[in-house]
Formats: sequence, structure tokens, C-alpha cells
Amino acid sequence: MTDIKKPELNFLWEISSVLTQNYDEQELMNKLKAIFEQFLFVKNFQIFMWDSISATLRDFVKSWIIIDKNIQSEKVIKIFETLSQHTQDNFILNGALLDFNKPALELEYCFDSCIKQNNNIIYFPLYREKKLKGVLELSFDEVLPNVKKYDFIFSIGIAIRQIAAAISNKLMKDAMTKNIDFYKSMKNIAKLIETQYELTYILPIIGEMVDKFITNHLIYIFMKDNENYFRLVWPLECKDEQIYELLEHITEEKLSEISDTGTTGVWAIKSENEVIGAIAAGSYMDKLADSDIAYMTLLAKQISVTVQKANSYGEMLKYATLDALTGLNNRRQFEIRLNQEVATAKRKQKPLCCIMIDIDYFKKVNDTYGHSAGDCVLKRVAAIIKQELREYDIASRYGGEEFCILLPFTTPDEAGFVAQRLRKAVEKTPINISEEQVEGETINVSISVGVSSYDENIETPAQLYQNADMALYEAKRRGRNKVIFYNDIS
Ligand code: GH3
Ligand code: MG
Ligand code: MG
Repeated sequence: MTDIKKPELNFLWEISSVLTQNYDEQELMNKLKAIFEQFLFVKNFQIFMWDSISATLRDFVKSWIIIDKNIQSEKVIKIFETLSQHTQDNFILNGALLDFNKPALELEYCFDSCIKQNNNIIYFPLYREKKLKGVLELSFDEVLPNVKKYDFIFSIGIAIRQIAAAISNKLMKDAMTKNIDFYKSMKNIAKLIETQYELTYILPIIGEMVDKFITNHLIYIFMKDNENYFRLVWPLECKDEQIYELLEHITEEKLSEISDTGTTGVWAIKSENEVIGAIAAGSYMDKLADSDIAYMTLLAKQISVTVQKANSYGEMLKYATLDALTGLNNRRQFEIRLNQEVATAKRKQKPLCCIMIDIDYFKKVNDTYGHSAGDCVLKRVAAIIKQELREYDIASRYGGEEFCILLPFTTPDEAGFVAQRLRKAVEKTPINISEEQVEGETINVSISVGVSSYDENIETPAQLYQNADMALYEAKRRGRNKVIFYNDIS
């Protein structure tokens, strides 16, 4: 018997031809499995990839499945840990660590001594950039194909390298697509502030965007409070003590800090010349890659600009009267007009009504179709409101997806009529949610409406809209897509 390791050429040829096709994860696994079954009578074949965030292995195909829920997978995690302490040339057969680099005879001897009558399990390491990224699990009966065992192992050894390379290419390609998406997102962040100026609204969106790009690390956004402490604003909690330690080092002179382990970093958000917040990325396992650091640095700058613009935009808006997104009066203008109209109604003893509108389940629109779709809905609803009102009615965007309308010289009956007309108009209008296409996807939304009217019981202007707001709340409570009068509930 010679000591030459001879790969099974047909087997390898089939593997290569599958790997060069552009299959998705599921197809790829099915094809590979079929080849392993055909040539090597393999019973089962599975790939697990390490997920550093949850510190566990995940099924390569169904990546949402965390597999640490049962004993079987605990075993896989142990195998993964063992393999991570050895080299690319090691694999595990029925619990024993073997080495491809051993002379063929020796390897075959080891192989023989480990093999059982049935249900043998082999684990091969999947490497990417010299790092163990996952394991491939094969199980087979003692019945081996008509090849020498060392050929069998050696062929698999080569196939595994190819499979690991293909998976790594696939992941790299995904990363490249991500890169392009990242720059698109940067543009979106910049665009966001053209229509939005409330940081409480902008920051969570930024957080969600970034989270998609820095895959192995958790992302946090902090803003400084009045006492100069960093307060977490996104997501809801941060248990990573290291981040808080790093934040202590951030000053106007020191705008970023990375932990000695290289796994965690913080970057300052600046406005004018002051540090007003920070973004952080942390992981217990994975080091920050150079690209992650580049992303975070760029992002911190972008957020700084955003915050600065948001602040000056907010300042500017104090003097503006219209809402940028919908073209309706802004809230400040609404409050001015409210005071005026209440004063007029009082003085002239004329009726005055107030309508509060809130879009139903608006969050769902944002979550399902994205924020720009949400913005399309806001614009369209505002347009319907404008279209349905008389010239001297005063329509305002009161908050996010809330609108407030003042109807001077209007009796409660007439106001009720207007409110129903608005509700019906919104209900029956299909709204185009793709900005670019004229005939894009459409959705329907509904609104809940509260109506109040001015009378001698109203002591302050604010009371008028507070009453409408209470009626609106009642409309929501009664199932939405309804008009409710304050007088009917008080
Ligand atoms: P409900 O029927 O109870 O009103 O449910 P809802 O989902 O509409 O609940 P809520 O009023 O709490 O949700 C308002 C959402 O509107 C939350 C916020 O993300 C979103 N929002 C606020 N302002 C804007 C905006 O300018 N554009 C977009 N796209 N979304 C906004
Ligand atoms: Mg609301
Ligand atoms: Mg709503």
C-alpha cells in the first residue's frame, strides 16, 4: 500500500461544480447533501456557523435557529470549542481529534480505531480568514464506499476547504453588498433630517440602520443629559460594563476609544465643539474589524452633523410656520392660531370646533413598509385633509402622525359632518407608498377622530384641543376608524 493520498475525483468535481453555482443557502445545502449521500453514503449533513452575539452556533441555512436549546447542540458547541483550539487540519471523529496531516497509513489506523458499527459522526472545521467560523457535521454508518478510508477522509478534507471557501465568499459578497447599503443608509440619515428634527425620532432609526451593518457587535447610542452623564437612548438597555468604562475616557480632545481587547469601542457625537453623546459597539468575543471601526467613525461624524443640523433646524422651525413634510401649519403655528381663534369666538360669540386626528396603527406601516412609506402616508393624509376643508379652516400637523384642525364659525353638527367626511375619504383612498413610481404599491389606512367645540365651559384655549384629544382617545378605545364627540363622553 502506498502512502499517496488520492482524492476521489468525481466526488470533488461534483462538489466544485455545485459550489460555483449561485445557489442560495438552502439550495446549496441540498445539493451538497445529495453529493455526500451519493458518493459517501452519508446519512446526515449539516453546517453550523458561530454567532458571536448570542455566543452560540446557528444553523447555516436557518440562521434564525439558535441551536443551544438541547443536549445535541451543547455537544456541537463543545466540539466547536475543541476545534477552535487546534488547526485547520484537525477534525473530530466520534469524539477523537484527528489530523489530516498525518501520513495516510497512520491516519487510516486512527480512523479505524475510532469507527463504530453505525452512526459515526465526524465534525470538520470551517475556517475563514484563519478563524474558525463554523463546523460541518457528517454522520454515516460503518458501511463505507468502495474507496480506501484514507481516500475517503482525504477527499472530504479537500471538499471541506472548498466548502469553507465558498461559504466565506458568500459571506464576503454579503458584506460587500452591505458596504454599498451602508453608504446608501448614510445618505438616508442625511435625508431624514430634512423632514425630521426631533432627535427622539431620528436616533432610534439611525440605531436600527447601523445595527444591520455591524453584524458581530451590538450597537448603542448615548446622549449626555443635563448633568453631563451619558444616557442610553437606543436600544432599551446596555449591560456591557466595558462600554461605560470607555465612555469615561471620552472628552472633547479624545473622540474615540477602543478597549485593549479590541472587542469594544466608543465614538463621540459632537455638536459645535462639545461632546453631546456617543455611539458604541460591543461584543464579548469578536474583535472590531478595521471596516467596523471605519463605519463607526464615519457614522459618529454623520450623526454629529445630523444632530447639529437638527438643532439648527429646530431653531429655524421656531420661526417657520409650516411643517416641512406635509405643508400644513406646524405645531407652533397651531398654538398661535388656537389662541387667536378662541379669542375671536369668545369676543364675537361665534361657534368654533376642533378636530384631532391620529392615523390608526401607523407604527405598523413604518415597520412593514419602512419609514419613507410612512412619510408617503403622512403626506397623502395631509393632502386629503387640505382637500376636504374650507379655505379658512386651519389644519396643522400636531405631532408625528397627529393632525389638528380648527374650524372657525362651525357648529358641532357641521364639524361632525366634516369629521366623518375626512374619515371616509382617508378610508377609501389607496395610498401610493413608493415615492419614485407613479403606479407603485398602494395601501389603505384609517384615522380616528375626536371632535370638541368651544363653549362657556372652556376656560383656556388649550382645553379646546385637550377635549378633542380625549374624544380621540375614546375613538381609539372603541376600535379606531371612528369619530367621537367630546360632549358624548363627558
Ligand atoms: P394607534 O392606532 O394606537 O394610533 O397606533 P399607532 O401605531 O399609530 O401608534 P402611535 O400613535 O404610538 O405611533 C406613532 C408612530 O408614528 C410612532 C413613530 O415611529 C411614527 N412617526 C412619528 N412621526 C413620524 C414621521 O414623521 N414619519 C414617519 N414615517 N413615522 C413617524
Ligand atoms: Mg399617535
Ligand atoms: Mg397612531
